[in-house]
Amino acid sequence: MLHAMNTLTHTQRQQLQTSLEQRQTQLQQELAAVQQEQEQHAEDTEDMPREPDANQSRDTSDREVRHAELLRDQQELQAVKAALQRMEDGSYGECVSCGKNVAPERLQVSPAAARCIQCQTKAEAQP
Ligand SMILES: [Zn+2]
Repeated sequence: MLHAMNTLTHTQRQQLQTSLEQRQTQLQQELAAVQQEQEQHAEDTEDMPREPDANQSRDTSDREVRHAELLRDQQELQAVKAALQRMEDGSYGECVSCGKNVAPERLQVSPAAARCIQCQTKAEAQP
């Protein structure tokens, strides 16, 4: 029996699961490294005498960039975990908003995608 073109084959699903698992490991390592670095940094600064304000703004913006990266990694990790969860319960590949199949081409580009392109566009357009 032939399914429509917009469903994943067994092989495609397995490949996506592998790349999701790899991405999950990678993100967890990145986050652990950042956390370790932050703890290290906190220890370093504790004993240091207070610096004049000259360097502070630079430090602050560096930290903000790092914080933004950290948040992005955390969000991606959540999306990856959710996708793996959907693989387990068998709903992977279906749009979480409208329930239609997400195009396999889209999943191959972003395996953690939870929505079809229409619903994603709509979600991003919302304020
Ligand atoms: Zn949808």
